[in-house]
Amino acid sequence: MMSDARLSQNTSASSLTAPIPISSTNVLPFLDISPDALVIVNPAGTIVMVNRQTETVFGYARTELLGQQLELLLPERFHEVHTAHRNQYFSAPRTRPMGVGLQLVGRRKDGTEFPVEISLNPLLLDDVLHVIGAIRDMTAQRVAERERLQQLEQIRLQAELINLAHDAILVRDPVSRVISWNKGAEELYGWTVQEAQGRVTHSLLKTRFPSSRADVDAHLEHEGQWEGELTHTRRDGSSVIVESRQMLVHDEEGHPIAILEINRDITERRHLEQTEQVVHAETVARLAFLQQVIDALPSSVYLVYGTDARLLLANRAASSVWGAEWQVDQPMLEFLTRNGIEITNAQGRPLPPSQFATLRAVQRGESVLQQQELIRRPGSSLPVLVNAVALPTQRRWSVFLQETEQQTPVEEAMALVMHQDVTALKEAEYLKDEFVGIVAHELRTPLAALKGFADMLLVQTARGRGVALAEWQREALEEIELATTRLVKLTEELLDVTRLQAGRLHLQRTPINMVPFAHRVATLLQQTTTQHRLEVRTTQPELLADIDPGRIEQVLTNLIDNAIKYSPQGGPVTITIWEETAARIVGISVQDRGIGIPRRQHAQMFGRFMRADNAQAWGISGTGLGLYICRELVERHGGQLWFDSEEDAGSTFFVTLPLVSTRQGDYEVPS
Ligand code: ADP
Repeated sequence: MMSDARLSQNTSASSLTAPIPISSTNVLPFLDISPDALVIVNPAGTIVMVNRQTETVFGYARTELLGQQLELLLPERFHEVHTAHRNQYFSAPRTRPMGVGLQLVGRRKDGTEFPVEISLNPLLLDDVLHVIGAIRDMTAQRVAERERLQQLEQIRLQAELINLAHDAILVRDPVSRVISWNKGAEELYGWTVQEAQGRVTHSLLKTRFPSSRADVDAHLEHEGQWEGELTHTRRDGSSVIVESRQMLVHDEEGHPIAILEINRDITERRHLEQTEQVVHAETVARLAFLQQVIDALPSSVYLVYGTDARLLLANRAASSVWGAEWQVDQPMLEFLTRNGIEITNAQGRPLPPSQFATLRAVQRGESVLQQQELIRRPGSSLPVLVNAVALPTQRRWSVFLQETEQQTPVEEAMALVMHQDVTALKEAEYLKDEFVGIVAHELRTPLAALKGFADMLLVQTARGRGVALAEWQREALEEIELATTRLVKLTEELLDVTRLQAGRLHLQRTPINMVPFAHRVATLLQQTTTQHRLEVRTTQPELLADIDPGRIEQVLTNLIDNAIKYSPQGGPVTITIWEETAARIVGISVQDRGIGIPRRQHAQMFGRFMRADNAQAWGISGTGLGLYICRELVERHGGQLWFDSEEDAGSTFFVTLPLVSTRQGDYEVPS
């Protein structure tokens, strides 16, 4: 019943006692008492007797075993070699355990195998030499043994882990003598484990305690553990600050037997923290100084960060500009909504947030200079010039936010914003506009009289009434007529400008079919020139726009008039009308092949009194007010006006106007 050929050599535990004589008639009840499986075989290897335990262990009924060869209870691969051993045993039988140090294996009826331990005894059964084998199922013991080995392995790994740690890990006895000390401790303090063992830690490491050693010991005793900072001295005399965790271990009777201690080197961290504290204190001081400086400024100054422009820092003047207290870290739009503040352009039209100077700076990194904004607060409004300068992204400005204890994102856009209160300037401008308005108004009547009389003189003389005029008199009258026409135009434009500025220009809107409308304006203007060919192009017969016809006629007339005027050598002027269905707009463009506008001046062309250099060089007269008025008028219709132009190649001006949303035919269309 063994798995190894070395059976015969395993005689170390053998004894040479003589076989016990027993009788088959009365032995069985005794065999059944045994906790082991007992099997008696005769010299031929045949099983002659088994106890009950054998049935339980191997799963055979007693009757199935009797008369069978002993090898039935072995895995088949051992049959041959076992038969040989058995024969050998009978030639020199003695009591002994079988296969000492070997893995013996039994086989159950169901074919499963299991570890066994066997001891053999010769016996005389009814005077014939037999062998009795006591077989013990070792499954449970083997499992336990394996578990014990695994535990040992685990302990070994844990010991290695302890050595791997950077922390100093040590065990000391109740009087603080070192029992063990890992590699981390060797590296941290400089003594090897052999040198440290038996030494009292506090004197070896010259421990400095937060309060006193007695306090730490008392805490350990009462709480069973202690945590805190200690200062130790290394072998080389240098100091090390450690974060220490200690635990008191008791034996089963509650007597302290050891203290486990883990010490982590935090010297570096402490130094860094100290440096950081110094830097922080300096920054706070500088910040306070900066605050004092900006508070002394008369204009509003503030710093914002992030794409939603949260406030970092503001001076005193800022709160009087806003008329409200903007909280640090509060996003701009939230601040405005909470306080009922609205931002509009200089003309009082609401600005979309994306056009606020502050948001342009943080969202698009633009530096916006001198943008006119109107801050409308409940009960008052303040015209301001805003400068918003995008600053390079900052990493370390969390110091600003210390009061709100915010640990905010590290990298965000920042902007410095200044507001200049231009109420006084606006008032002066208003007075000037008023003055210009009054003058223009007063000029109208005498100008009309002048122009009327000049016209009358020319027309009536041409009809032969009165004395015929000399050539120079007719020319002088024509000059007067031309100059007064220009003056009338100028006064009308000046009046429009003052109306626009004062918000007194009101639109009378009605649905107009833009196609015949444009044709009519073109036809009228065609009569003023023979050098130019005006053409209206469109694929649509009808495009209804919701407009003030008088004002849009003024716009179209101005644009076509310019196209004619700034093409002194003549040429085609093309008016194109189209529909942008999705955007619900009608588009009108006026294209000429004239002198064009120099690129460098494109950006300023919609300013008041703005004229391009080349227009003046060509000696073409004008006021530089038309485009300004046109753009204002178009924008007040909810449309847009812009142009594209190349010097000496020509210009195209584009106008868009909102289409009427109702179906065609719902309106009576004036032609
Ligand atoms: P004005 O024609 O009375 O000077 P506008 O405001 O209508 O005033 O035009 C402003 C300036 O824009 C003009 O002086 C001229 O320099 C330029 N401009 C306008 N329209 C054209 C055009 N079609 N071609 C070239 N320059 C133009």
